[in-house]
Amino acid sequence: MKRRMVVVSNRLPVVINQDSQGEWQIQPGAGGLVTAMTPVIKANHGVWVGWPGCEDSAPICSLLEQFVEKEGYSLAEVPLSEEDIDKYYHGFSNETLWPLFHDMLGNCRFNRDHFESYKTVNQKFAERTAKVCLPDDFVWIQDYQLIMTGRYLRQLGLTQRLAFFLHIPFPEADLFRRLPWKDEILQSFLAYDLIGFQTSRDHRNFVRCLMSFVPGIKVVNRHRTHTILSNGERSFRVGHYPISIDFEDFSSRAMTEEVDDAAWYLHEHFEKRQILLGIDRLDYTKGIPERFLAFERALDKYPELKGKISLLQIVVPSRTMVPDYIDLKSQLEQLAGHINGRFSVDSWVPLRYHYRSLDPIQLLAHYRTAEIALVTPLRDGMNLVAKEYCACSVDNIGVLILSEFAGAIDQLGKDALRVNPYDVEATADTIYRAFCMPEAERRKRMTNLRAQIKRFDVHRWTKSFISSVG
Ligand code: UDP
Repeated sequence: MKRRMVVVSNRLPVVINQDSQGEWQIQPGAGGLVTAMTPVIKANHGVWVGWPGCEDSAPICSLLEQFVEKEGYSLAEVPLSEEDIDKYYHGFSNETLWPLFHDMLGNCRFNRDHFESYKTVNQKFAERTAKVCLPDDFVWIQDYQLIMTGRYLRQLGLTQRLAFFLHIPFPEADLFRRLPWKDEILQSFLAYDLIGFQTSRDHRNFVRCLMSFVPGIKVVNRHRTHTILSNGERSFRVGHYPISIDFEDFSSRAMTEEVDDAAWYLHEHFEKRQILLGIDRLDYTKGIPERFLAFERALDKYPELKGKISLLQIVVPSRTMVPDYIDLKSQLEQLAGHINGRFSVDSWVPLRYHYRSLDPIQLLAHYRTAEIALVTPLRDGMNLVAKEYCACSVDNIGVLILSEFAGAIDQLGKDALRVNPYDVEATADTIYRAFCMPEAERRKRMTNLRAQIKRFDVHRWTKSFISSVG
């Protein structure tokens, strides 16, 4: 890409902290978006705009300068106050848009004060972005926290190409209409030249919302992967671009001796049992209680599983201050205790539940060694754990059980075992089917899954999105 790229996201792609001597340090962050953007933003010496996510006492300017020298692209920080974080981030972003867009109306809080803060913070992001933008730049805004930033950029007079990508799902019109500020949010999308979604469902839901609620919107052209719309003054493109992972990176790291040793050591604890693996952030969208119930049902219904399979569930702490997440955590602890209380014997604990994150070697070792992955969100934009599991199943014998409500089902649905996570009975049957699956069938399915993910990796995602901007 010839144009310089300006990426705008809630968080800067850095981790800032103090070492044991109290010295401040800055390091590149990890995660899917950083992997996707870094090669492109480095190659064209771009800028990343975002909140640094550290305490005010950090010497932020000198740390960011250090980063630019080392990494070859610039960072522009948007400072946020505690009140901003509370209302814009925890409030409107995570207690309104997050549950609404994941079809979880029951978890939504509608608070005008939070929405006002969302607008103010989006304006701050726009002002900071406008300051660093050059006339030929392409600006790519990321995710639900910053939907309105494009609109404020236009109000500031920016005429550059603006694109937006939504990493989470987009709901159906009948659900979206519950949002008291739906018109302002929808109007904000019209500032962009390109709006990207994860799946054809999200793309379709969004176009229907626009057609239903925004007067004067017309479809100019409809294609398989994108739609051209017009509001009478200008036209813009809406498409779906399923995000992915760096397959080669995961696959090659999973084959290193370090991971191989850690995987072997991990499985030693499970002797001759199959490991059924769940790895999720603590979130009510991930369907973890339903998964526990399905596992319990499988143990009741298929007694031959007893002593032969263990569910290893890692829950990564997340949004720990939000009441719904605190409730979910205690629900999981209770359920895990209940299941282990019912089935444990001296030589076998059916459910190993860990509330913590894993370091990269351990994460890959878990993926590599588990015979079955149970990825059963109630709704998920994509779900990268499903793709990472396959990339690390280098022995080709892993079985992926995947929810039909994860975005990844569009690409992986043919060779994964597909489940409706609300259907506890069918999920229990699917666990049993995966447990019994002959090696030849496992190999065939996993080989296909890996080939799919390898072909459509994250670098292809970035290229295809950017080339759609025109
Ligand atoms: N992950 C991690 N540490 C852990 C467990 C998971 O960094 O201990 C990562 C995992 O590699 C994946 C991400 O967290 O890239 C989860 O992404 P996903 O799309 O599955 O769900 P999200 O948490 O974004 O909703």
